[in-house]
Amino acid sequence: MTIYNFSAGPAVLPKEVLKKAQAEFLDYANTGMSVMELSHRSKAFDDIIKGAEETLRDLMQIPDNYKVLFLQGGASTQFSMLPLNMAKGKKAYYVVAGSWGKKAYTEALKLSKTIPFEPICLASSEADAFDHIPLFEADSIDPNAAYVHLTTNNTIEGTSIYDLPDTNGVPIVADMSSNILAVDYQVSDFAMIYAGAQKNIGPAGLTIVIVREDFLNDKPALSSMLDYRIQADNDSLYNTPPTFSIYMAKLVFEHVQSLGGVAKMAELNRHKSGLLYDFIDQSAFYSNPVKNEGDRSVANIPFVTPSAALDQQFYQEADAAGFKNLKGHRSVGGMRASLYNAFPLEGVEALIAFMKAFEDKHRLG
Ligand SMILES: *Cc1c(COP(=O)(O)O)cnc(C)c1O
Repeated sequence: MTIYNFSAGPAVLPKEVLKKAQAEFLDYANTGMSVMELSHRSKAFDDIIKGAEETLRDLMQIPDNYKVLFLQGGASTQFSMLPLNMAKGKKAYYVVAGSWGKKAYTEALKLSKTIPFEPICLASSEADAFDHIPLFEADSIDPNAAYVHLTTNNTIEGTSIYDLPDTNGVPIVADMSSNILAVDYQVSDFAMIYAGAQKNIGPAGLTIVIVREDFLNDKPALSSMLDYRIQADNDSLYNTPPTFSIYMAKLVFEHVQSLGGVAKMAELNRHKSGLLYDFIDQSAFYSNPVKNEGDRSVANIPFVTPSAALDQQFYQEADAAGFKNLKGHRSVGGMRASLYNAFPLEGVEALIAFMKAFEDKHRLG
């Protein structure tokens, strides 16, 4: 049975990358050692981390005045690290368009009890179960604020921001965890981008931060590990980085490059997700909870049948047929198909055929 992994993260990785890692597993580049056994100070690992950075720079066309950091702690640690370093006693705005954006804002509120700054919810769609991207007026933003934080792709609710909002000149910081390398953004539109690796980049344990140098903190933050400046000055080697995850990320970056880069990925993702959205739209049985078509995510596609009982039957039968991890997030229910870069087109076609058959059975029965 063919297995298709629709997991929202950790997620499917390109088979070619897994095979290459397997082939190199016991003896990396004639070192006689596994990548996992290499010192992070060795020449072999230095080549890996530099190669990963160089390929990522090339893929995202990251300008020279941006630093690329390979950190740990997941995207969730960035929820605190960002205000710790960048809030600078000022206002910090949050667009709360999904569960992760709300977490980022909640962490900022918590931290504002300890360090002086003022987190402000700029716009929220929580009252509508995050079924759209909320809008706001640029002139409601204090131009002296430290940053505006947004989530480019709401992994749980299935919405995305494609065109960045006008923030009255205030730098934009984005959590890009679930659509980095999947949508073609301009890095120069952001002061900082961060992403947990486990959705579109590689194994869990690695967090990518891309930060404009002039946005970096100049005063030390509360702790060295949480200080962007220290991490940048040490080329992400202040302590032992997640070496194997960085190696895997490098292989994924090279793979994406070999396929034609981010623009090509974005095109493929629009095609893959478009097939599923078109099928859902023409069906009277399935529906997608996102209100505005323009907000639809290409990466995470939530959908429901006419009842919670049928939803449960759907993902149980789907699971038995090899369509894994289709159950929606516990906070929203229903189903969610995560179609990240490495998810194959055949898997989308097979899912649609399965959905058709399920619909036929239950519409008649
Ligand atoms: C998965 C996810 C997170 C959480 O990432 P961790 O690496 O588990 O901390 C945060 N934000 C978004 C948008 C996500 O998709």
